[in-house]
Amino acid sequence: MRLANLAGRAVLLVDGGAVDVERLTDGKFGPSARSILDNWEAFRDAVSGARLDAAERTSYTLADLGAPVPEPRQIFGIGLNYADHAAESGAPNPDFPVVFTKFPSSLGGPAAPVSLPSAGVDYEAELVAVVGKRADHVSEADGWSYIAGLTVGQDLSEREVQLRGPAPQFSMGKSYRGFSPCGPAVVSLDELANPDDLAISGWIGDEVLQKSRTEKLIFSVPKLVAYLSAICTLYPGDLIFTGTPAGVGVGRKPQRFLRPGETLVTEIEGLGRLEIPLEQGYESSASA
Ligand code: ZN
Repeated sequence: MRLANLAGRAVLLVDGGAVDVERLTDGKFGPSARSILDNWEAFRDAVSGARLDAAERTSYTLADLGAPVPEPRQIFGIGLNYADHAAESGAPNPDFPVVFTKFPSSLGGPAAPVSLPSAGVDYEAELVAVVGKRADHVSEADGWSYIAGLTVGQDLSEREVQLRGPAPQFSMGKSYRGFSPCGPAVVSLDELANPDDLAISGWIGDEVLQKSRTEKLIFSVPKLVAYLSAICTLYPGDLIFTGTPAGVGVGRKPQRFLRPGETLVTEIEGLGRLEIPLEQGYESSASA
């Protein structure tokens, strides 16, 4: 199933439109995504195929959808989790996951415009894992069973703020308003032939920026669940941005940052795509 957010209400995306979860389940689940993810297994069992087939559909566009999990308790970001991206960042492969947070106020829908705060904003196409049940000290072998589904994310990053100071503070540079677009839906694992190996790419117009596969993650989703849950309790609806492959703007020669007027597209096989319009939120330099 594909759990999404239409006008602040949880919906399932199906052929021909969106089905409202609260109406579908006679008020047992919804309208918030939290109420569904807190009871994910019961919800999966309750939504039978036949009932879904007969349900009333509402048409929608990508721009009508909000972040599929609008109020996660925690958002984890993982840095340097593809070898080619670690190399372009001038770093060795990490021995343990590099973790930061993206604050929940930075979430946005799959086609929500983002106002660029500077000319130094970078893109990071990422697979996002959505936690499906409370996780404490979970083993890697059990990791996938704690994940409700996967979605597409962008870990937008203002590089100057991310990297400045004697001890770089990743979280602020990655938490400007709209810097964590997600969607279009949380896709349950049963919809994917192999959730460990999905094509991931990002582009602007005909310029391909990133192109890889999630099998190249240094720390896979179950490894991340094991590592994070050994330190933090994970809650239903928590998001894990799993890291980005090579091709980010700061690692290019010349460097290539996002420009106002562009639309940043991010796609993952089986999950769908984000189409983020970029707007100018800073003063132009006089020399332009
Ligand atoms: Zn990232």
